[in-house]
Order: sequence, then C-alpha cells, then structure tokens
Amino acid sequence: MIKFMDLDFKKNELEPVISENTINFHYGKHHKAYVDKTNELIKGTELQDMSLEDIIEASFGKLELMVLYNNAGQVFNHNVYWNSVGIGEKFDEKMYKEINDTFGSLDDFRNKLVDEGVKLFGSGWVWCVRNEDGKLEIMTTKNGDTPLVLGKKAIFNIDVWEHAYYLDYQNLRKKYLEEFILNVLKI
Ligand code: MN
Repeated sequence: MIKFMDLDFKKNELEPVISENTINFHYGKHHKAYVDKTNELIKGTELQDMSLEDIIEASFGKLELMVLYNNAGQVFNHNVYWNSVGIGEKFDEKMYKEINDTFGSLDDFRNKLVDEGVKLFGSGWVWCVRNEDGKLEIMTTKNGDTPLVLGKKAIFNIDVWEHAYYLDYQNLRKKYLEEFILNVLKI
C-alpha cells in the first residue's frame, strides 16, 4: 500500500498565492483520491507491496494497467509538487550556479518555466529534472505522465491542471505560474 504524504507546511501558509481552500481541495480531495484509487487497484495483486516508483514502472505502457499508471503517476507528481514548496527551505548555492550556467540567469530560468506552463495544452506538469546526461532540463508532461519512466530524475514540478489554480486564479494560468514560481517554489 502506498502512503498519502503529509504536508510540511500549514494549509494557510501559501496564502495569498495559494489559498487554504485550494489546498483543501487539491491536497485533501484530488491528491487523496489518487492515493485511494491506486491502493484500491493494487490491493490483492502482486503490485501491492511495491514502492510507488516500481508500480509506475511496472504499469507504464500496459493498456490493461493504464488506470493504475495514471493514478500512481498522479500520486508521484503531487508528492513532488508539495515538496517543491519552499517555505523556509531553498536550494543551495550550487543549484543556483547550475541554473545560471544552464539557463543564463535565474530570471531566464523562471521565465522559461512560465512559458512552458502557458504553452502546455490541456492538463499536465512543468518539470525541472536532471536528464540522462546529469544536466538540468525543463520539460512538461501531460495528464499523469511522469519523467520517471523517461529515465529523468525529478527535482521539482508545478501542477498546471486547472484544479491547481482555478479557485484562486480562474482561467489566468500565467498569473498562477508567475506567482507560484516567484513566491512559493523553493528557488
Ligand atoms: Mn493536482
């Protein structure tokens, strides 16, 4: 069985960028539903004692396990999202140097994250990952897809499903991305 993670910040601590109301729905309803569904689907199967990452790898590309893959992927993606919040915790100097070396400047890096999130059509995720060559990379995935199955290591992500921002920003996805990246993300 997989765990429903705890948040290491208070539900009202991200206000006004992300409201407590959004956290209650996003974490308390959406994220929890993905955990519950995943556990329901693995119960009594050979997957039930596997780690979340192994469940994702085992169900990837299998038509009969697509519902499980999507739900387990969404659990992983949301675990990364809540851990991308930087209340009281930021990346170290080495990471900032790497961002500058790879993307030009922190502003360029932030702008690229916003651009990728705005360009992504439909529901999905913007990611900062470490790619196969060990380099930082910004990428997007659609729906419940995760960089894990592409051999990339997740560093942080930003949820751009409408449930992540609609209560606070309605259709203004760009505004949500800008506010989240500048004020909430641990960079
Ligand atoms: Mn979400």
